[in-house]
Order: sequence, then C-alpha cells, then structure tokens
Amino acid sequence: MKYTSLNKKASNVPFKEAVIKGLAPDKGLYFPDTITPLNEDFIKHISHFSNEEIGFEVIKQFIGDEIPEKELKRIIGETLSFDFPLVDIEYNIKALELFHGPTMAFKDIGARFMARCLGYLNRDSKRAVTVLVATSGDTGGAVASGFLDVKNVNVVILYPSKKVSDVQEKQLTTLGKNINALEVEGTFDDCQAMVKKAFLDKSIIANRQLTSANSINVARWLPQMFYFFIAYKQLSEKNRKLVFSVPSGNYGNICAAMMAKRLGLPIHHFIASTNINDIIPKYLLTGKYSPEPSKQTISNAMDVGDPSNFIRIQEIYNHNFEALKNDLHSYSFTDDETVKAMLHLYEYNNYIADPHGAVGYLGVKKEHKKYIDTQFVFLETAHPVKFLNVVSPIIKKNIPLPPQIKKVIDQPKKATFIKKYSELKSFLLNN
Ligand SMILES: *Cc1c(COP(=O)(O)O)cnc(C)c1O
Repeated sequence: MKYTSLNKKASNVPFKEAVIKGLAPDKGLYFPDTITPLNEDFIKHISHFSNEEIGFEVIKQFIGDEIPEKELKRIIGETLSFDFPLVDIEYNIKALELFHGPTMAFKDIGARFMARCLGYLNRDSKRAVTVLVATSGDTGGAVASGFLDVKNVNVVILYPSKKVSDVQEKQLTTLGKNINALEVEGTFDDCQAMVKKAFLDKSIIANRQLTSANSINVARWLPQMFYFFIAYKQLSEKNRKLVFSVPSGNYGNICAAMMAKRLGLPIHHFIASTNINDIIPKYLLTGKYSPEPSKQTISNAMDVGDPSNFIRIQEIYNHNFEALKNDLHSYSFTDDETVKAMLHLYEYNNYIADPHGAVGYLGVKKEHKKYIDTQFVFLETAHPVKFLNVVSPIIKKNIPLPPQIKKVIDQPKKATFIKKYSELKSFLLNN
C-alpha cells in the first residue's frame, strides 16, 4: 500500500515510511492511495469473527506485504487485548466504551498498534528511533504504555508542568526504561513549539531518527476503525439505521469512522460532538473553515482550534461540501450543558460518564427524537477516573480506582524538569 501526501507535493511512500516519518516532507498528512471496500459477506457475517480477525480484515489492505500476516495478527491481537463493551443507556442509545485498555482512554488502541508496527518495521535497523511527543494529557500516557519495552525505540514525552491530572502525570512519569518524561515549565503550546523546533533542528536530525506519535500518524489513525466494526458486531439488530456520535477534538477518531464506512460498514451518518471549540459545527453551517486559538474547557482533550484531521475528512468526501454535510452533523456544547448531561446520566441512567463521553451523549440527544428506528451509539472515550477532579464534585461520589490506575498512582514520579529549548536539545543528544 502506498500513501500520498495530501499537500500533493511529495512522492508516494510505503507504509513503513509513512509510519516512521509521520508527516510528509511537504508537511502534508499521509492518506492511503487506494481504498477497497471489504467483501459484503464479511460484513454480513461479522458476528462469526473474533475481534482479532475483524481487525485483520479491516487493516490488511493498508499494510500490504510490509508486515507478514503472522506478525500483523500478533500486533492486532496485542492491540485489542481488552474489551469494547456496548452498554445500554436509554431506548435506542448505547455507549461504546473504549476505555478498558491500560491507560483507560481510546488512544491506547492507536498507540499500541503504532508502537508494535514501529518496533517491527525498525527491528533490524542499527539506528534506534526516538519518538518525540508533546501531550496535554491522554496522549502521553497511551504512548508511554504503548511503547514501553519496544526494542529499538526511545520515547521522549513533553508535558506542561501542573497542567495535567494526577492520574495522567503518573501514567507518563512512572514507567521508566525506554520512556522519558520531560516536565516543561509552561503550557501545552510551549511543549508543542519545542517539539516542532526539534523536528527542524539540523544538528538533532543528523544524530537522531526522530518520529512523532501524534494522531496524524497513519498507524495511530487507521486502527481506530477496528472498534466501529466491533461495535457493529455486537448489535443484535443490524438492520436499523446506525449513527455514531464521536466526541471530537482533532477529528482523527471520527475520520476513522468515515473510513470504516468507506470500507462498507453500514453507518447512516456521523455526529461530531464537541465543546465550545466549534470550528467544525461552524464550518458545516457556513462552508467556511476558520481556525481559532483553542479555548479551555472541562473536556480538555477536545480543546483544539484547528483540527488536524479536517483535511483527511475533506479528502474522504472528495472535497464535496454537500456530500459531507449529508454524512456529518456536528454540534457544540458548553461546559454547563456537559455538567448537566453528566448529572442526568448519573441520576437517571445510573451511568458515570467522563466529560468527553457526556458531550458525545449530548450530540445523540440533539437527534434521537428526529430519527426514529435508529440505533445511536456514542463513544465513551475515557474512563471517568481520568477526570476525577471534574467528575467527582458533579456526581458527589468517589470513583474507586481501577487496577490499571492503582498500579501507577503510588509509583514515584520520574521526570526531568526543563525550562527552555536548549535543555530539550541536550537531552535528546545525550540520551
Ligand atoms: C483525544 C481525545 C478525544 C478527541 O479525539 P480526536 O480523535 O482528537 O477527535 C476525545 N476524548 C478523549 C478522552 C481523548 O483523549
């Protein structure tokens, strides 16, 4: 399989190069050169397949022969080694829980798949790869856990000091081994700026093979298709219209759902649910895409003012605004509405949602009375315990720590405190 740069000014590359480079030399996002729908019989008989078998069917065309079948199946098996329950919430409304992995956010799936692909693709290289990533929270933990002990790969994670939750900080600072945490005095944007500078720094590039593990990497983006198929498999009535509501920030997750539809998964349409960072809802209303500085909210993994996957969504719909509008509905919600939704879910449905899942639920509520005989599924993208400081005061209840969290919360934090770019540079060159 070849990947094209969406800026159209770089040559096509194989999967391996797309994964190691992350972004094309012309700064474009990589996109598969061809997309072939899956066999209809496979989708019709999906209940007979295991999650691993589904993953293999879904992803194999995007890897081609670059990873042998046996290896790829092992990678998929390890990626999907936890449950993806579909939970009844209300009549015609279900939650797809994506938080049963090691760091309890859906980013585990992409990070685990990418880590294992990179480990395999770089297995014989004399040069280790350095994964350099800035995080505002969930990415860091998922990347740390996903890449732990992967041979020939070193990980350097920058996070803003005192601006991530306790759980999130422990998830990225306690693992050690090939995982290095740099605690930056500053904001997420400062971390991001340092990472960008390092990628352009000639003396670093000459000495280190740098790659990024953010959601634009095709090996993080594409495996997100798996759980839309796994959700469909679990539906007992497969003939009803199916709508997914996806809490969206960089729009990688919903863009994977659109790819699943391209492969033939019968999804009627999508709801992109978001907070007051309402670039996409506004775009669908006006046809004008105007990025803005991000605004802080309680669903902070979606505080994005210029969603990086927007360009991929355009590509999937051949830049046809009407076609996109037919398939993609989008709503924005305030923190107040999100809090009320969390409270409602808790009091009436006995369900504890995290702020992102609650936004997904709100998107469903906008439509579920309009579309009869339709199955709505919203994605619950993180376990509520990851946002304890928001969730607990709202539902006035403590949430017991799941084993994955207990394991890290009492471990000692190991991080290198840095204030300026030169410190990142010497860290990269000396480690
Ligand atoms: C990253 C994240 C999102 C947003 O996902 P995108 O693919 O960037 O749209 C939503 N919820 C949680 C909990 C996240 O960590």
